[in-house]
Amino acid sequence: VILKRYVTRFPSEDDMEVVACTARLAVPAGSAAVVVKNLYVSCDPYMRTCMTKHEEPNYLPDFVPGEVLMSNGVSRVVTSGHPDFKAGDLLWGPTGWEEYTLITNTDIHFKINHPEMPLSYYTGMPGLTAYAGFFDVARPKKGECVFVSAASGAVGQIVGQLAKLTGCYVVGSAGSDEKVSLLKTKFGFDGAFNYKKEHDLNAALKRFFPDGIDIYFDNVGGAMLDAVLINMRMHGRIAACGHISQYNLEVPEGVHNLFSLVTKRVRMEGFMVLDYHSKYRMFEEEIVGYLKEGKICYVEDVVDGLEKAPAALIGLFTGRNVGKQLVNLLKT
Ligand code: NDP
Repeated sequence: VILKRYVTRFPSEDDMEVVACTARLAVPAGSAAVVVKNLYVSCDPYMRTCMTKHEEPNYLPDFVPGEVLMSNGVSRVVTSGHPDFKAGDLLWGPTGWEEYTLITNTDIHFKINHPEMPLSYYTGMPGLTAYAGFFDVARPKKGECVFVSAASGAVGQIVGQLAKLTGCYVVGSAGSDEKVSLLKTKFGFDGAFNYKKEHDLNAALKRFFPDGIDIYFDNVGGAMLDAVLINMRMHGRIAACGHISQYNLEVPEGVHNLFSLVTKRVRMEGFMVLDYHSKYRMFEEEIVGYLKEGKICYVEDVVDGLEKAPAALIGLFTGRNVGKQLVNLLKT
């Protein structure tokens, strides 16, 4: 799947194209590269930010028209020139939206230590994002009041469940009644609301948090962030994870209530999961334990085949996905 042209507003399937070409399965002689067969690739909101041409350097390289889109994926090594990887090894890390990828830099690729788990669970980094943002940035205490936006999504569902395991009161927002029901019945949130049905977000938050919010895990930014700011408690924390409501706007909306950070002594801190690779193995063991004990569950939204990948990516911005969106390439 290649990018056809740079995108300025809401992306369309036509901005991407599925093309055929021949893959070379040999690694260049003397190189430490590996060729992998991709099994799953991740659809991630950040990919949209790489589809715009940036005048100032972006936090990640822009995609280039005519070149293959990249995201994290789960792959099997086919050919290897690297001493640490051999044919047949399963790994996850950055890869192409294509059947086979030549990976020249394996520095941020991890071997899969628990192949007994569903391999698709290794697609993307939502779990590590949730773990790092919640524990390292928000630093929760038992009994605190936690609000999560885009709560039924890949990151949000794990944040909510980690918060419950920590003994917090947890409320999430999502964009459909089906997702709201999932939050309460499957993920164990104490409360949830459909933000698309609330004409006054401030009033909705006051209904669930009459005494205010200690921790806001922000996946969306925009109007929700503004409403949360005036509902924060003294010394609250905002883990700024993403601003998906802004990614398709040429000019981001303004945030008006930042003075609440001052008056309530709130710490708002952004973070990037890329900075937490050193904690990955610790996270992996902990989360696999929770999954095996049934203390955490994980909902995925899987489409089959690269032809469906562009629509799946765009669906992140209409809320079509329920849970972690990924593309299954096992049948290709
Ligand atoms: P999700 O699985 O949550 O999918 C995106 C969801 O966002 C949609 O399903 C939709 O849910 C919601 N959404 C889309 N458009 C809007 C909008 N205009 N306003 C409000 N909600 C909207 O994605 P992820 O869990 O992968 O990502 C969640 C956030 O975390 C994103 O902002 C992403 O960029 C960020 N992120 C940050 C990382 C970091 O290192 N800081 C790493 C990974 C992700 P609904 O139906 O509920 O509206």
